[in-house]
Amino acid sequence: MSNTNYSFFKSVEKSFDKAAKFTKWDKGLLEQIKACNSIYSMRFPVKMDDGRIEVIEAYRVQHSQHKSPCKGGIRFSDAVNQDEVMALASLMTYKCAIVNVPFGGGKGGIKINPRNYSAYELEKITRRYTSELVKKNFIGPGIDVPAPDYGTGEREMAWIVDTYASLKPGEIDAAGCVTGKPISQGGVRGRKEATGLGVFFGVREVCNMPDVMKKVGLTTGVVGKTVVVQGLGNVGYHTAKFFREHGSVVVAIAEYEGAVYNAKGLNEEEVFQHRKKTGSILNFPGATNITNSKEALELECDILIPAALENVINGENAPRIKAKIIGEAANGPLTPEADDVFAAKGILVVPDMYLNAGGVTVSYFEWLKNLSHVRYGRMEKRFTENMNTHILSQIEELSGKKVSEKEKLFILHGPEEVDLVHSGLEESMITATREIMDIWHSNPEIPDMRTAAYVNAINKVATSYSELGIFP
Ligand code: NAD
Repeated sequence: MSNTNYSFFKSVEKSFDKAAKFTKWDKGLLEQIKACNSIYSMRFPVKMDDGRIEVIEAYRVQHSQHKSPCKGGIRFSDAVNQDEVMALASLMTYKCAIVNVPFGGGKGGIKINPRNYSAYELEKITRRYTSELVKKNFIGPGIDVPAPDYGTGEREMAWIVDTYASLKPGEIDAAGCVTGKPISQGGVRGRKEATGLGVFFGVREVCNMPDVMKKVGLTTGVVGKTVVVQGLGNVGYHTAKFFREHGSVVVAIAEYEGAVYNAKGLNEEEVFQHRKKTGSILNFPGATNITNSKEALELECDILIPAALENVINGENAPRIKAKIIGEAANGPLTPEADDVFAAKGILVVPDMYLNAGGVTVSYFEWLKNLSHVRYGRMEKRFTENMNTHILSQIEELSGKKVSEKEKLFILHGPEEVDLVHSGLEESMITATREIMDIWHSNPEIPDMRTAAYVNAINKVATSYSELGIFP
């Protein structure tokens, strides 16, 4: 961060205050909601492969315990500092509240660049960090449940659960101490695509609202809508995939080296394979090259999905954006100046705080799976298939007609784990979108959907606090 006076946590507080004006909660209660409840700043020594001892700086912040456990990822980055972890923990509280995941917000960080360490060193750092958390009661299925974030993934989550379980022998719910684990260690199917699928469900729900679509000058539904996606990583790839599979036309995909455009539509998997083979997204067969990647954001389209970096749309380029809807798949892709431009132009911004909450929603499902000790679908799959077979055979017998083999397979299918996870995510995103829209429409003073999302989060957390009875 170049500006040493900049505080990410303060900027989150500013957004909170902007939204809090539209609520009627006691000032003291609002102060309590904003505050980080517990901050654990730690230093511990780790012996490196060459025999050197390095002092590692790390954090875990529990922003709110209005619901237990706390939830939020662990980041490995040399930019980690206490202010950043506090800000990210508080955003987790609001994100969980919006998608009705019954957790408080948390976040962890270790100030290292993982690329500078061997796998063995990373394992030692991760395991030592976990044991520090155990010592201070900062981790556990009912206390605080970390997950992956920048620089961490399934491998680190497997080390965490293994360390935790070995320090807590006999704790039957130990697998629920962390999410984002490999399937073999208690992970859940459907997590990889969760964020992109959640982005799709959220934007689709907005597109299904006739009054909202009328305001932005579009017809309802996603079929035939043109989409531009920035970033062909995990989130961008899956968002593009689900839009294409549901009848939208992904006209452009941008990566950092350039973008490709085809008015007839692009297939994200083919573009991905082309980039893997040639080392560049450019020169994709049948598509036009856009050598300045940023120009792709300014293309004529219905829906723009920034799914790469923060601050890519700012006061400078926002006036040239032609999309009618912007779905914030990345974290913080728009600056506050860009928000003002879009509010004035009537361009709808679907905010990151809830739109990219698919990951945490599916983490919640993983935690539930760990506590119930049974794979989703195991109890009902066969029962449903047998029942559907019976119903269909009765219908065929009574009507004297047969359904096609393709239809039959679809109707008889009992739910697998991945089906139920996708369905739970769909429900969560639809409900969250409707709640936010209701709040926005109920008060014409609320300037944008982002502020409405914050108002929704504040109302839920404040209700929970006040119902605890600690503010008589
Ligand atoms: P990723 O690393 O898999 O993908 C990011 C992609 O963006 C990469 O392919 C990268 O090459 C590309 N990119 C980098 N600079 C670019 C530029 N200037 N122009 C165009 N493309 C560029 O990361 P991801 O997991 O897909 O995350 C993307 C964003 O979504 C981040 O902001 C992240 O914080 C946010 N997010 C991710 C998740 C998740 O579950 N993965 C959840 C919530 C939010």
